[in-house]
Amino acid sequence: MKQPHILLVEDETHIAQGLIFNLEMEGFLITHAETGAAAMEAFHRQSYDLVVLDLMLPDSHGIDLCRQMRKESSQLPILMLTALGEEQDRIKGLKEGADDYLTKPFNLDEFLLRVHGILRRSAWYQPTFNKEEIYLFNNNRIDLRNLEAVTTHGNICLTELEGRMLRTLFANEGETLTRAELLKSVWGMSADTETRTLDNFIVRLRKYFEADPAKPKHFLTVRGRGYRFIREPEQG
Ligand code: CA
Repeated sequence: MKQPHILLVEDETHIAQGLIFNLEMEGFLITHAETGAAAMEAFHRQSYDLVVLDLMLPDSHGIDLCRQMRKESSQLPILMLTALGEEQDRIKGLKEGADDYLTKPFNLDEFLLRVHGILRRSAWYQPTFNKEEIYLFNNNRIDLRNLEAVTTHGNICLTELEGRMLRTLFANEGETLTRAELLKSVWGMSADTETRTLDNFIVRLRKYFEADPAKPKHFLTVRGRGYRFIREPEQG
């Protein structure tokens, strides 16, 4: 597999060093730019799989870079780093084409999770995945391609992560998936992180798709191990 190449635009040395160290540990190739000018030069030199873009730079504003990069490369994922209190910038950045943002100071796990998420999402929309994926169970109709569901509780727009989680569970119907397997497959994360996020997702899926979310029949907890999806539970 090709090593994903990330352009990191960040002028604060201690933040940049921490991010570079950890991204490299995750197997990414990093090009680091400390100014807007250096960022645009690096941007034109080669192509990247992701840009991590700090908004406050010594010579330019990240919003302008974001707009310019987006204009030249409509598919390139951009993750913005904003400071607290830059609410307006965040909104503007999302309008100018950033895919996601993180507010400083952020947790490193959260950062890596976002990076993996964006990269998976961009792979997700490659044409090879472009087929119809409709899944029916318990009077629910789930369209994984368009991330829409018709349920007994109403119509639901699924998030990409929810879609990915459902796809993983459906593909392994009837089998127990460990927390580690689910985290890896859905978030691209190693086992020891963000397990509460996983539990919260299961709670959400139950709320969407179970007749009685408090007594799940389809999204089952396997105590001490993980979760299991059952399409057609035994009667009784
Ligand atoms: Ca900065």
